[in-house]
Parts: sequence; structure tokens; C-alpha cells
Amino acid sequence: MADFARQRQRMVERQLAGRGITDARVLEAMGTIPREAFVAGTMHEFAYEDSPLPIEAGQTISQPFIVARMLQAAELDESDSVLEIGAGSGYAAAVMAALAACVHAVERHPELADLARQRFEALGYRNIQLRVGDGSGGWPEAAPFDAILAAAGGPAVPDVLRRQLAIGGRLVMPVGETLHRQRLVKVTRVEEDRFEHEELDEVRFVPLVGSYGWSEQDAAPVPAMEPVAARAPVDGGGLPDLIRAAMEPLPELDDPAFGRLFDRYADARVVLLGEASHGTSEFYRARAAITRRLIEAHGFTIVAVEADWPDAAALDRYVRGRPATRDEPIFQRFPTWMWRNREVARFIDWLRRHNAGRPAEAQAGFYGLDLYSLDSSIRAVLDYLDKVDPRAAQVARHRYGCLMPWSKEPAQYGRMALSAGYALCEKAVVQTLRELLARRMEYAQADGEHFLDAAQNARLVSNAEAYYRAMYYGSAESWNLRDSHMFETLEHLLAAGGPQSKAVVWAHNSHIGDARHTEMGQVREELNLGQLCRQRFGSAAALIGFGTHTGTVAAADDWDEPMKEMDVVPSRQDSYERLFHEAGQPRGLLDLREGVHPDLCRRLAEGRLERFIGVIYRPDTERWSHYVECSLPRQFDGYTWFDETRAVEPLGEEPRTGTADTWPFGL
Ligand code: SAH
Repeated sequence: MADFARQRQRMVERQLAGRGITDARVLEAMGTIPREAFVAGTMHEFAYEDSPLPIEAGQTISQPFIVARMLQAAELDESDSVLEIGAGSGYAAAVMAALAACVHAVERHPELADLARQRFEALGYRNIQLRVGDGSGGWPEAAPFDAILAAAGGPAVPDVLRRQLAIGGRLVMPVGETLHRQRLVKVTRVEEDRFEHEELDEVRFVPLVGSYGWSEQDAAPVPAMEPVAARAPVDGGGLPDLIRAAMEPLPELDDPAFGRLFDRYADARVVLLGEASHGTSEFYRARAAITRRLIEAHGFTIVAVEADWPDAAALDRYVRGRPATRDEPIFQRFPTWMWRNREVARFIDWLRRHNAGRPAEAQAGFYGLDLYSLDSSIRAVLDYLDKVDPRAAQVARHRYGCLMPWSKEPAQYGRMALSAGYALCEKAVVQTLRELLARRMEYAQADGEHFLDAAQNARLVSNAEAYYRAMYYGSAESWNLRDSHMFETLEHLLAAGGPQSKAVVWAHNSHIGDARHTEMGQVREELNLGQLCRQRFGSAAALIGFGTHTGTVAAADDWDEPMKEMDVVPSRQDSYERLFHEAGQPRGLLDLREGVHPDLCRRLAEGRLERFIGVIYRPDTERWSHYVECSLPRQFDGYTWFDETRAVEPLGEEPRTGTADTWPFGL
């Protein structure tokens, strides 16, 4: 399903050309060679990430940018003979083989060499010779070389290696006094006995272990899955102390003072409350406490959440004291625990009590921003038209018929549209939406109360059609359509509420933290709801992130797998979470608005890793599945910290039995 060619092209544009790699041959070779073929199957989806990845034997495949940087420095010519020390996965050797006449490569781990050989064979490389052994002394029988590249760092450039360069030859190698931190060094043999020495970037490679490198004891144990070229400084350099000083301790979650601490954001038109996982009790309870305060004391009347519109609409009827209109259980699609949990149920009951006895316009409503409800949204539009305009319902039924075969499994529709080569049902769904909106006045007379709901469902069907098609063109497009849909929905809700309306949004940090200050935006060209709100509302949008160090979380191993309570691995040494953990507060709020803590924000702004746990949690590949490089103080206007958190409490394992069945109306 993944479109590797496209990801590869994007890698070349964003990570390489975008960062100053200008050698056209390097860009072309790296734009052609399938990097995914050099990592294990479980890592395929991360093959084009802007980071090193783990390979067998506790080693790593270098970050694409580093490979390009070294190759550009080596100035390879098509007639060159090249030596690579530390072939690892074989990826860099394959790129060299495309740029030079022949490649000699050495790898000390037989297991890695075997795999690399199989890959060269499968991809048809005939100009690579690979041997197992210590390459720190080079490959004297095959010398001289026009270029020597070392993919592991030693304490100095061994003389025996320099001597294996041809006159005019270039050696590029990471050199450093410590095991894991080096500077890239380029040595050019200008004459028999004259070498030019140039220092390039700071890098982090695995150690070169051998007679001319580090000893086996020096290097052991090689930490498994450590990135070789991580860009974030590992030690906090006093940052935890600064965070501790700036962070305001938060009271207990049920103390009314909790919500009051967030009054500083209450002037905003939209307050967006994030979460670092979809299954953490504290994040839900904190958002409930803040939202209660915003509703009670600051006139907020819209609660818009990352949930399906039709399901949230049922909760909206409940909180407004209206009768149920559907007798089906809600929030039945994976991940059910995200909204079907005790924490949400308690908030919903509070909202119902708050609304009781208030006129409709003073009540607060509960709405869904997401677009995964193709099937029930189609039905909702048809039900509405059946009531207000049976003839139009017939036409709509016919038009939606185009999508019906796929409505239960809409991803299939995307595949189908792709192979058919055109947007099969686009016209049909857009036309239905247009006609519905055009007859607004007419329909409003027949049933005005439900018009907004029906129009939103029709809009959703139209956006979902585009979303499922885009899924097959690459993840960025479909992500962007989804977040644009959420933003559009929020704008409609605000418009429907009038110029004074104010909204609280609950969605994951990945939707709420301004994507322009994360790898998502900078490398993957993804935008998000928080960014769109900032662009539209400026400082009248408050983006508040949430984070944790460790504890438990409700999540699944994979899509559609059962929910489990999992342990959250303590945060990584080089993450923002670790800085907050070391600040030593059990919970607190860090105000990140401009001018409040300028020095701290400036120091925190330098990129670091931040953890994102969704409905799926994979502790084994945590670095690549869940950590993304971000600039936290630029993403958010506030950051709410809970050092230790626990999993949400789902409303029932078997949603189709017991009281949970008709929640909330049956409870
Ligand atoms: N170019 C590789 C990077 C692999 S990491 C790739 O693109 O995948 C560096 C590799 O150097 C590791 O596989 C490690 O086992 C190897 N290595 C370390 N010291 C070595 C030595 N003295 N001789 C040969 N290989 C060595």
C-alpha cells in the first residue's frame, strides 16, 4: 500500500536537496535506490524517515541525509574505485555502486554481510565485493582507492587508510574522541606525501571497532537501536531546573482551582486541548476540568472533539435533554474506548446537568469533527431527505448508490478509484451536498432543527470520498484532507453559533500542535487543525499540549485488534518528555505564550524528540513509531504535564451487551 517511489522523491526533495545536497548524481542515485529493501519488513514503513533506523546485530542504517552528505564530500566519479568500511545494511554501498565503477565493502558482523549480499544479488548489483572482517585497516590488496568512506567512527584517521588512497583520492570518516560523537573529516591525498585535512559536520555514528579503531571492550555494549545521527542534545544542560522554576503546579483534577489556572486562555475564540495518547485518563479528566471552567465562566458553548459526527450528534441530543433518534449503539468502530469511556461519560453527564433548564441557545453542545462515518452519514442524509423532500431523497439514494458498495469498507473505494483512474463518485456526492445546501430555506421550514446536522453529514460524505481516494496517493494528502475537514467543520460550528460563539476542541497533540514546527510539517508537508486555527484566528487560538513520562495507556497492537492496558516506556533521554520528567513536578502547566518565559522558550525551541501515542502503541519500535522531532514551545501556547498517567477506563468490553449498549441514553 505504501507508495515508496513517492516517499523516496519526497526524501530527496525535503531531506537532501532542501538541506543543501547539490550533487545531482547523488540526488539521482538516492532517488532511485529502494531504501526499503535494506531494512527488515517491520521497518518498511519508516524506510524514508529522516533518521537512522535499527538493523540486525544492534547496528543502524545511516540517516539518508548523512549518506548523501558523505557521498557529496567524496566527489565520486563513474570510473572510481571505492572502499566502504562498515557496510551494515548495504544501502550506502548500493548508492556508491550506482555512482562509481566498483565498490569494495567490509563489514565485521557476518550476519549483516550475509543479508547485504542477498540484497545486492536480488537487486542485481555486480560491481560490489563484500567481505567479512575488520575494515579499520582497509583492503590493501585492492588499493589504491579513489575514495574511502567509513560508516563507523574511530578516534583518529588511521595512517594505513590514508596510504590506500590514490593521488587525488578522498577519504571521508567520522572521527571523535568519544565513542558516539564525532566530526566528519575529509582527507584528500594531494601528493604522495601531502594530505589535505578538512573538518565537516558534527555527527553521531556507531563506533569503528577494530585494530585501528576502538577496542571491543571500549565499544561494548553497543546500545541497541541508538540513532547514530540524532540531532537533539542529549543532556538537558540545566533545562530541567528552568522548567521546574517556570512550571505552575496543578492542583488535584477535581479541585475547581484546576480549571481556573487556564483562565489566561479564556479570551481566545478557540481553545484546543491536546493529548499525547488516545487512552490516558488524566488527559481526558484534565480536558473535562478545563472545559467545564470555560463553559461555566467564559461563555464557551461548543465542545468539538476528534470523533465521528453522527456518534457525537447522539451525545449532543443527550446533553441537550432531547430524545434519542437512533436506537443503535454509538462509537462502535475501532477504537471504541476513545469515546466510550468512564471519563467521557462523566463529562457528558455533567454537560447534561449544566444544560438542564437553560434555553437552547445558552446550552453547550457536543460535536464530532472527524470524517470516518461514511456509512452512517449517508444514512443520516437520506433519513433527513426522506422527511423533508422524498423526491430529493430518491435522487440522493441513486447518487450515493455509487459509494454504497464500499460504504462499509471505504478504503476499498480508494483502491478502486485509483485503478479506474478517475474519481468515480466525486460528482455524485458533491452534487448531493450542493443541492441540499441550495434548498436550505425550503428545508429549514420543514425541519430546521435538523438541517445543520444533515448538511454536515452531506459535507462529510463529500470530504470522505476525497479522503479515501487520497489514501492511495500517499499519507500526507489524506492527512491534510482530514485535518482540513476538521477545521472546516469547526468553522461551520462557530458560524452557526454566531459572532460571539467560542469553542473548545479535544483532539490529539498531533492535530493540535502547530504542524509547521514539527517534522510532520517540515518534512512530510502535513498541515493540521492547530496550524489552520492559528492561521485563521491568530492569537485568538490557544493551542494546549499534554504530555507524560510513563505509566499505563489503553491502546491496541494493531488496527482493529482488541484494546489492552499497556505500560508506557519511560521517555527517551533525548526527548522533551525527559526534560519535564527531570523537572521533578508530578503535574504542572507551562505557559508558552509569547513573552511569558522568553529565555526558557528560546532554549526549548531547538528541536527535540516528542512522543505521540495514538490508538496503536508499539513499544518495540517506539523511536520510529512514536517519536517525532518537534519544537515544542512553537507548537503550543501551553503544555500540561502529568509525570505518571494511567489508562482510561472503557465503558465495557462488549459494547453490544449490558447497559453500555444504549449509552448514553440507557445509563
Ligand atoms: N553504511 C551502512 C551503515 C552501517 S552502520 C548502512 O548504510 O547501512 C556501521 C557499520 O559498521 C556497522 O554495521 C558495524 O558493524 C560496522 N563496523 C564497525 N566497525 C567495523 C570494522 N572495523 N570493520 C568493518 N565494519 C565495521
